[in-house]
Amino acid sequence: MPDHETALATGAAGTDLLALHESIAGMLANQGDWRRAYEHLRSALDLAHAGSLRDSLTSSYNRRYLDQHLHGLLRERQGGIAVALIDLDLFKRVNDTYGHLVGDRVLRRVAGLLQEGLPPGAFCARYGGEEFALVMPDIDARTAVRVAEAARARVADHQWSKLQPGLSVTISVGLAHESGPGQGRALEAERQLVRADTLLYAAKRAGRNMVAYRDCESVHIVKHPQ
Ligand code: GH3
Ligand code: MG
Ligand code: MG
Repeated sequence: MPDHETALATGAAGTDLLALHESIAGMLANQGDWRRAYEHLRSALDLAHAGSLRDSLTSSYNRRYLDQHLHGLLRERQGGIAVALIDLDLFKRVNDTYGHLVGDRVLRRVAGLLQEGLPPGAFCARYGGEEFALVMPDIDARTAVRVAEAARARVADHQWSKLQPGLSVTISVGLAHESGPGQGRALEAERQLVRADTLLYAAKRAGRNMVAYRDCESVHIVKHPQ
């Protein structure tokens, strides 16, 4: 979907535009202009469909979009693909200390930071709660690790105290990379997500604010200056 459509399809602007198309369709139908009424209903339907693939809090793609797209990307890929699962560190403490409204603002800001600097064709989706997924098609393992580590650093280095004095936020990342063409296996998407989830917990166990990935048979934790 082109960017301008997604911008319109999400948030208040998308909802307003949808209502506008609906009421114009109603007016045209009252005048018997069925063809133009249909065109406006069609636009309203397109906006509603685009909105159904977005998360209402963060405006990033949602789990439904991820589920719809990941399987096809894995099956049809010609080269490598990476899936990074991202979990905010000790986020319950943010809610408990500063309240849920600040927590919600943090989630929105993290979603924005994760979407910065994504390679072409990659997307970010809210996986659920305080978890996000980055899907990076046509990418080699080394580049995927670099993108994931840059995302981790962007969140850690963000000036969170401007949002709330005393606030700091970090993320942990589990990165699963598949090389070579797709195998067309039915459960490939689920398997890739399970692999990323296992690595995410390795990053948590290693101390949080880390990227964990698997290379051949061993798990690596990206070391970064504290
Ligand atoms: P860990 O580093 O182990 O992930 O610790 P954690 O505190 O992040 O993990 P835990 O699973 O204990 O807490 C996750 C919290 O995320 C609890 C829940 O209230 C919060 N959360 C989930 N979705 C939302 C949301 O939409 N808004 C806000 N404000 N909080 C949310
Ligand atoms: Mg979690
Ligand atoms: Mg968490």
